[in-house]
Amino acid sequence: MSVLQLTRAVYEAIRAHGEETYPHECCGALLGKPAAGGWRIDAAVKAGNTRTDSAHNRYNIAPAELVKIEREARSLGLSIGGFYHSHPDHPAQWSQTDFAEAHWLGCSYVITAVAQGRAAVTNSFFLAGTTEEDKRFEQEKIEVVAAFEPLAAFTESKKA
Ligand SMILES: [Zn+2]
Repeated sequence: MSVLQLTRAVYEAIRAHGEETYPHECCGALLGKPAAGGWRIDAAVKAGNTRTDSAHNRYNIAPAELVKIEREARSLGLSIGGFYHSHPDHPAQWSQTDFAEAHWLGCSYVITAVAQGRAAVTNSFFLAGTTEEDKRFEQEKIEVVAAFEPLAAFTESKKA
């Protein structure tokens, strides 16, 4: 089972975002670095939900916004390690739509159930597989940690 490490600040930010946009879904990207057994996430970036047809059970990040987020990640020495969204008044389990729209193999997809405006369960699913044909979601463990070592130091040691 893979492990997704989130700082306490990121964990709380993505849950608060779900409460903020309730009864609509929130969504955003998770920035971090690959770690043994999964990702360690240092930052969360809010994205506008561009689905207007059914914002309560669909989510989408506009391609232009994604490009901006990728640029921001690079400038911090990070990569996109996953995405998060909320399920207003629905369990924190992926839907067929979530699966169909998940294309980042090797990334984590975090879902927070928001029950009557309050963040409830948060689950993470790792998109395993090597192609669109054999991709699959595997539930992973979320580990909430206090904070990681300073970014600058970590980036330097990686480059050396
Ligand atoms: Zn969903």
